[in-house]
Amino acid sequence: MSKVKTPAKTPQAIRGTQDIFGPDAEAFAFVVETFERVRKLYRFRRVEMPVFEKTEVFARSLGETTDVVSKEMYSFDDRGGESLTLRPEFTAGIARAFLTNGWKQHAPLKVATHGPLFRYERPQKGRYRQFHQLDAEVIGAGEPQADVELLAMADQLLHELSIADGVTLQLNTLGDGTSREAWRAALVEHFASVRDDLSEDSQERLEKNPLRILDSKDRRDQAHVASAPKIDDFLSGEAQDFFGAVTSGLDAAGVVWTRNDALVRGLDYYRHTAFEFVTDRLGAQGTVLGGGRYDGLMESLGGPATPAVGWAAGIERLAMLCEGRGAESLEIAIAAESNDRNADAAALTNLFRREGFCVELFASGSPRKRYDKARKAEPAIMISLDMRDGEATHGLSVLNEGYARAKKAQEIFDNRK
Ligand code: ATP
Ligand code: MG
Repeated sequence: MSKVKTPAKTPQAIRGTQDIFGPDAEAFAFVVETFERVRKLYRFRRVEMPVFEKTEVFARSLGETTDVVSKEMYSFDDRGGESLTLRPEFTAGIARAFLTNGWKQHAPLKVATHGPLFRYERPQKGRYRQFHQLDAEVIGAGEPQADVELLAMADQLLHELSIADGVTLQLNTLGDGTSREAWRAALVEHFASVRDDLSEDSQERLEKNPLRILDSKDRRDQAHVASAPKIDDFLSGEAQDFFGAVTSGLDAAGVVWTRNDALVRGLDYYRHTAFEFVTDRLGAQGTVLGGGRYDGLMESLGGPATPAVGWAAGIERLAMLCEGRGAESLEIAIAAESNDRNADAAALTNLFRREGFCVELFASGSPRKRYDKARKAEPAIMISLDMRDGEATHGLSVLNEGYARAKKAQEIFDNRK
């Protein structure tokens, strides 16, 4: 006989992943369900996308110098020696699918999806290594109306989640390719002249991704960011008209926005419209939704020039703002206070559930404790079935006076066989 074994140690979850349970899980589901409802109102079609793609799908479309590609991707060689990457975002994979499946025939194509994404980041509140996004894209639509529709959908989503108060839509334009390049050159010149005063991060960005310096939260950079050249001085007439059409469309749709001319997005593929919905209620991780127009992306994947615009929202961050939402309250609790009534109670439970009621059955454990257990679940209606002196008894009481379906429930109960 062997001696007492030391118990095997339970493996821990991977850093930056979450096991979502309880109220957090309910709020998460509430966000997803609300998104599903709203995207249907706007006729966005559902797509399901692979969780991994060839690494080049992301490397080519996001740009080699972006934070995501240079530092955050989960890439690995599979057994066939091919470099694959767990998706760090949806857009590149959807663009790849648009090209490889000939979805052009459906253009302009409005699609929506949601699911897990993977980025090697420093985990903290609101920032994880596996996180989840809602995603909406309009592909093959070059007109500003597409930007407006997409933003109106985002705005309606936040309203239907009841979190629109305290979340601001910040809007900017990066202009067309030419405007953006001219602005970029002016920014490089500006920041190069004060290079030694900049933070180390920004000195590195100066080489690789100068627009990102505008994003810096480092105090050493702020004065230089404030005095940096503005995109408005570089916009072509066409780019100005485009932005004007977006803003007047938003005004007409009743979508409230503010201009943030320092807003740039982290990825290379953005053109024209760029936006974020930001709140100060989540500390440092205050961006809940971000997106913009990516007219250059399809070409970087070897496809024909195809205008497109889209956004993604962090489900965890939205769910944090929806704390306490989404939990179904119990409509009916049914307690069998005698084991002889267990079968009746189960049948009654089924009957109510088939009629669309949310019901919990209490028919296990000590019969004397079931009534109290049922009451503790805070049902709107309490039904108890008992057996007294060989005779079946029952009672229904409405505990929540304001409960709207009490009459219907009573009818079903009275008319049961
Ligand atoms: P950030 O500046 O916060 O890193 P980002 O620009 O990298 O954001 P996007 O790629 O635009 O983010 O993703 C869209 C949204 O997805 C973000 O606004 C945020 O709500 C969410 N998100 C991004 N990265 C994470 C993460 N690591 N954990 C949780 N949510 C995330
Ligand atoms: Mg990021």
